[in-house]
Formats: sequence, C-alpha cells, structure tokens
Amino acid sequence: MEEELLQFLHDIRSVLRCHQVGSIGDYPASPELSDFLARCEQKTSSVAEKIASLPKKVKETRVTSVRRKSDQGSLAEIAEEVGLCKSCGLAGQRKCVAPGKGGGGTIRLLLIGHWLSVPEPASIPAAETVFGTQEDQMLERMLAAIHLTPEEVFVTNVIKCGVGPEIQPQAEHIDACSSYLQRQIKAAAPELICTMGMVATRALLRLSQPLSRLRGRFYMYQGADGQEIPLLPTFHPSYLLQNPEMKKATWLDLQALEKRIFQK
Ligand code: SF4
Repeated sequence: MEEELLQFLHDIRSVLRCHQVGSIGDYPASPELSDFLARCEQKTSSVAEKIASLPKKVKETRVTSVRRKSDQGSLAEIAEEVGLCKSCGLAGQRKCVAPGKGGGGTIRLLLIGHWLSVPEPASIPAAETVFGTQEDQMLERMLAAIHLTPEEVFVTNVIKCGVGPEIQPQAEHIDACSSYLQRQIKAAAPELICTMGMVATRALLRLSQPLSRLRGRFYMYQGADGQEIPLLPTFHPSYLLQNPEMKKATWLDLQALEKRIFQK
C-alpha cells in the first residue's frame, strides 16, 4: 500500500514537473483539485519563480576549487573548467557534466535548455549528450529541418551538471552556474539565441509570464557587458516527447528562427 502511494505521488510529481517546464499553470479543476494543486505547487517550490526574482545583473560564480585561467576563455576552455567545478552543491551529486556541444564554425544559433536529467546509473548518456538521448535526436532533426548544420549551432544547458531525476536543482544552483553560461554566450557570439523550456527562458529574460505566452516571439537578450542578441523562447524537446501535440507550435517557432537567420 505504501509503495503504491509512493508510486502515485511520484507519478503526480512527474506530471507537475512536466507541466512546470511547459508553463502550464491553469487546470480545469474542481475547487478540491485546485486546492490540492496549489499545495503541491507550494511544496515543490518553483525554481523558475525564484529565478525571476533574482537581480538582473548576473552574480559572479563563487569559485571555490577551480582557479579560472581567464575571465573569458574559449568554449573548450570553459568546458574544461566545468569538468572540475565544485562551486555548488550539485557537484557532489552529479552523474556527469554536460557543458554543451556543437560549434566548430561560425555559430549562428545558441540553444539553451535547463539541465541534463540522467535516468538510471546504468544508463549514463554518451559524453556529448546535452538534453537527453532522445531529446538530442529530436533536436538534430529539428535543426536539419531548418537547414542548420551542427557546426553552426551550439547547444548547452543553464546548469552544467547532469543529475538524477530525483534531484530538482534550485535557483541557487542556477545562480552559481550562471557565469559559465554568460561566458559561453560571449565566446559563441551567436546571431540568435533560442531558450528551450521555462527554466532557460526565465534565467535569461527574467520575465515571469508562462512560456506558453512568451514563446514564438523575439526578445532582446542583454549580456552583462552590453552584448545584445535576439532571443526566441520555445518548448524543450523533453516536453515535446511527452506532449507531441505541441510540436506544431514549436515548428512555427523554428520557422521563425530560420526566417530570421536566413532573412527569408
Ligand atoms: Fe559547478 Fe554548475 Fe556543476 Fe554547480 S552545477 S558544480 S556551478 S558546473
């Protein structure tokens, strides 16, 4: 009985987390269900809301065990630092690091997700996995559909450590990891940024509206050093795998990116 209850709670948590990533916050519910969901939401403490309340200026990461070679560095140097980083509590819980992949030529598009969730100890993904095995495959197909080569795209996450599904990173972890992302944006110098999912969108734009309202439009990302890059939010591939009916909206967003990049 206890196991069934735990499984039930686990299932509910998965559904809520999935909805949270997709910014679904409204449910056609009875007063009892609304009350239940409100209590669940309180308990799970929305990471994204905390992110939105962070100051606009990104705080410098507190580096405790890694001495940075430089303030900036190339994408490869940043990846090397990430591999040694112990700047926040996720370091002790990480199953792998996912600093990002792609590039190699002029980077036209920078894609940013939340973090790599590693399902089982036995299924630690391949070294280059960034969003997840199936998610990365879906991403490859999406990019090919808008005529971008892997060399023209760099894919990364807000949080560079890959953790188990039982771990829900918090705003403090995003804050601790933010300087890596800032430096990657500067090093990649992309023409456009696409945030995939609510966590990445809020981490960069600091807007509190749900993703369903933010997606599909261009905003201006403002870097700490005055860098300005057009940014378009859309859904994360993990959300699309569970909600295939949202692929059509995502396809419209991808077409908007293609149009902007190739000025069609
Ligand atoms: Fe370092 Fe980021 Fe991993 Fe924290 S999540 S240990 S800041 S790489």
